[in-house]
Amino acid sequence: MPAPMSFKELKAAVKDGSIDTVLVCLVDMQGRLMGKRFHAVNFVETSFEETHCCNYLLATDLEMATPEGFAATSWRAGYGDYVMKPDLDTIRPVPWLEGTAMVLCDVLDHHHHKPVPHSPRAILKKQIERLSALGFDAMMATELEFFLFADSLDAIREGGFRDLKPISGYNEDYHIFQTTKEEHVMRPIRNHLYAAGLPIENSKGEAEAGQEELNIRYSPALDCADYHTIAKHAVKEIAWQQGHAATFLPKWHHDRVGSSSHVHQSLWQDGKAMFVDKSDELGMSDLMKHYMAGLIAYAPDYTYFLAPYVNSYKRFAKGTFAPTKTVWSVDNRTAGFRLCGAGTKGVRIECRIGGSDLNPYLAQAAMLAAGIKGIEEKMPLASPTRGDVYEDAKAGDIPQSLRAAHENLKGSSFLRAAMGDGVVDHYARAAEWELEEFDRVVTDWEIARGFERA
Ligand code: ADP
Repeated sequence: MPAPMSFKELKAAVKDGSIDTVLVCLVDMQGRLMGKRFHAVNFVETSFEETHCCNYLLATDLEMATPEGFAATSWRAGYGDYVMKPDLDTIRPVPWLEGTAMVLCDVLDHHHHKPVPHSPRAILKKQIERLSALGFDAMMATELEFFLFADSLDAIREGGFRDLKPISGYNEDYHIFQTTKEEHVMRPIRNHLYAAGLPIENSKGEAEAGQEELNIRYSPALDCADYHTIAKHAVKEIAWQQGHAATFLPKWHHDRVGSSSHVHQSLWQDGKAMFVDKSDELGMSDLMKHYMAGLIAYAPDYTYFLAPYVNSYKRFAKGTFAPTKTVWSVDNRTAGFRLCGAGTKGVRIECRIGGSDLNPYLAQAAMLAAGIKGIEEKMPLASPTRGDVYEDAKAGDIPQSLRAAHENLKGSSFLRAAMGDGVVDHYARAAEWELEEFDRVVTDWEIARGFERA
């Protein structure tokens, strides 16, 4: 599905006054939109060429702190500029905001105008190019799970994030009546995103009170990551417009189900699905088997890119539909990887490890790199695991903490070869900083547990 607005159409809309604002955005390390709101006339006359931003935007944490230790940018280097280069193929209306359009940017070095290697879009583009050199295109879909709350973001923040009240009172998995009560939020999400050019499939209630899922039709990998980022942004913004809060924190309460972002993937060549082999028992081609073997073998190396924060690891619990093992299975939701559409044209791999907090560009890039490695080395695929995978003692484990995932990332020669040392070191430092901050802070749990009893 091409972007619904060409540059020419944008210029016409600016001329007739229907668009007066253009959001010019980059995607940061956390997968958020950062940028500027342009007067549309300025954008179509000059700024469509490029604009600039402080290079700290790709070296902050969630709270916009500027940690030391990034080679690419620092106080010492004076925090210079990056070029934000609008990708004019991504222009689209933002129908939930009046008179507004949006464009996504690639991030370029200020001096030589080459892509900044640790920019999420550049990281994904590099792996797409590597796959293309092998003759394949990746088609991906990311599911978005999140929670809606009764109160607004401001009310929740002012209340210290306590006594959080989900928008509904009970588990609403596939529940039509309960989700009808949420249509004032979900219907504009589906319809505005569709009008913005995102191929929305559906939304549904998920397996917890207040939990939602939004599905977008599978698309070329870069489009998929762009769609995910715009949809996540829209969910937060539209929920806010309706007086509610949406969170993509993977585990907002230890007694509640977590939120994930499953990633569906298949490889294609000249419009033909290359994972299909009708003669195979499960309809899987050798290419698919090698790709999946790479995904499984390197999952511990790239788990950081699927679960980037301390909280992400609270989701990986037995008996919750969140996986704990790096194995594959046939239509079984307890394994890290699930074969979907067995024996059909839509045969694909669903990775179930990622949390709702993943950055889709980084997650997809890391998985493509692992799949490419599997293909290049013709890695053999073990037999699928059956039954309750949680209890399978022989199956490999997904790293159980950010600390373990950080160690794996830092020491991964596979990721270093595929992405470059500079990229791996940059994100390893981001993980290390999360850990430093977490280790420094005294949590509510420690106080409640030990204040009187220790
Ligand atoms: P589920 O019942 O697990 O939600 P769906 O049939 O709704 O499964 O599909 C989940 C996602 O998989 C959708 O976003 C869909 O577009 C995507 N998908 C379908 N076919 C493919 C494919 N060949 N490659 C990648 N993703 C696909």
